[in-house]
Amino acid sequence: MHHGAHEGWIEVISGVMFSGKSEELLRRVRRALIAKKRVQVFKSHLDRRYAGVERLSSHNGSAIEAVPVVSAREIRTRVNPETDVVGIDEVQFLDSEVVSVVRWLARRRVRVIVAGTDMDFRGEPFGSMGELMAIAEVVDKLHAICVQCGDLATRNQRLIDGEPAPAEGPVIQIGGAESYEARCRQCHEVPEVGRHQMELEIAVEADAWADRVQYW
Ligand SMILES: [Zn+2]
Repeated sequence: MHHGAHEGWIEVISGVMFSGKSEELLRRVRRALIAKKRVQVFKSHLDRRYAGVERLSSHNGSAIEAVPVVSAREIRTRVNPETDVVGIDEVQFLDSEVVSVVRWLARRRVRVIVAGTDMDFRGEPFGSMGELMAIAEVVDKLHAICVQCGDLATRNQRLIDGEPAPAEGPVIQIGGAESYEARCRQCHEVPEVGRHQMELEIAVEADAWADRVQYW
């Protein structure tokens, strides 16, 4: 990818889980290494299951570790002044300061490549992904295949014990017995337990009133 004489721009690789975002980030980083660019890769420290890119090795035998960071600010302090390319994996887990950090890097003529899940399990924008996609020069949205119907999958289906998880759960669930699968918009299910519970309570209360009316 070439954007003119000066480097310094933002690329976003977005999409659903299982769509190959980390592989695409790796591919771009490998090509930058072949072009003898100085590359640093960071990732959110969050949860081992979301480990993403761990270690990248190039054809000449040199390896790059993806450095886990706790906050976006940590990236600012860890970037070397001579770095040409910065990759960030699982960027949706980082705090909102990541937007200004990425802008700052691009202004310093760093090519920034971020990969992240664009929607949470409810189908809402995930973390700073929406803002990052808006300020990026290049956005790629990758898809997976819906395990239900075989169409293009754009959603993350959270399952608890094999059943669609309710909307009330936390966006980032650490531990627990839940799993995920890729689904299309039509097959994506997010039951609203709270609303159904309330309807049920109202129905029960109405029944109780009806009983009382009978006894009067
Ligand atoms: Zn489907």
